Amino acid sequence: MKSCNAMKDLKDHTREELREIFRSLGEPAYREQQVFRWMARGVESVGDMTDLPARLRDALSECFAFGTLEVEREQVSKSDGTRKFLFRLPDGQKVEAVFMKYSYGNTLCLSTQVGCAMGCRFCASGIDGKIRDLAAWEMLYQYTACLAKTGEPVSHIVLMGMGEPFDNYGEVSKFLHAMHDPDGIGMSYRNMTVSTCGLVPGILQFSLDFPQAGLAVSLHAASQEERLAIMPVAQAWPLEELIEACKTYTERTRRRITFEYALISGANDDDAHALQLAELLKGMLCHVNLIPLNPVSDIALAGSSRDRAVRFAETLERKGIPATVRRQLGSDIDAACGQLRRNTL
Ligand code: SAH
Repeated sequence: MKSCNAMKDLKDHTREELREIFRSLGEPAYREQQVFRWMARGVESVGDMTDLPARLRDALSECFAFGTLEVEREQVSKSDGTRKFLFRLPDGQKVEAVFMKYSYGNTLCLSTQVGCAMGCRFCASGIDGKIRDLAAWEMLYQYTACLAKTGEPVSHIVLMGMGEPFDNYGEVSKFLHAMHDPDGIGMSYRNMTVSTCGLVPGILQFSLDFPQAGLAVSLHAASQEERLAIMPVAQAWPLEELIEACKTYTERTRRRITFEYALISGANDDDAHALQLAELLKGMLCHVNLIPLNPVSDIALAGSSRDRAVRFAETLERKGIPATVRRQLGSDIDAACGQLRRNTL
């Protein structure tokens, strides 16, 4: 078998590819469903797939790698039950996931890459650039490991951890399909949200591939010039094109976009910025999520005060733009994107 030599991870295969593997092994077609179900439950080795015959387990173990995620570190917030996990991947790289309790259900924030190539000036994840993409199964296993560790149900996932999901579109899309698959987790696309720094082709493709899923766009500034100063991605995809893509997304999906806006003291947080933002988003089906910037060591930017954030939200609301100041969950446990990993490098 070709894959035998490559020692590719068994979980790196799509369901169609698995079907092909079992066909070539002369196994009945239902083996594929059995194996897929085990993987969606986060099984740690082929040996644990107890409804497979021993000879098949041996053959699969010989032919395929089967990596797992180790919990390297776990932090639990004393104030709100937020739990942050640092995972070690099979090659020793590390990624983070965060478990949060919201009124509408428990939510997991998952990573899509090790590091990030986008270079947003305020973000800890991108300081050392992108190390590598995550495989779809490495996203799935963040989910299954969090479930096993917390013992609590999870109703929503957000791809807002380390990495830019649309810079790893293929694996992210495989992962979302596996989460939705009734043989997998069976989660509704409506409960999945992908967050992007503004990769326009990704937004447009996503609107066609996952019209029921949620989209969050990290805006952080209301003019091209100010956005470019903190988000290099604005060079490739200027604000005007980004807003156009968001409008196309809404036309196609009828879904409300969440715009993320990190308030940076003295940079993007005064009333004039709020008015400019309201003007930019006028008439759009959207919601603005405001969050005072989380402090990151090595980055000399400070978050706005809670009062400033509330005033900013009020200005937006007065102009007809729905806005909320996000509850700052887990601020006692390095909850800002990419911080836990950096602090343990
Ligand atoms: N790459 C994607 C998703 C990962 S970042 C994106 O950019 O949307 C998740 C969110 O956290 C983004 O809105 C990002 O801009 C924001 N973020 C990063 N560093 C932050 C910090 N120090 N304080 C507050 N928000 C931050």
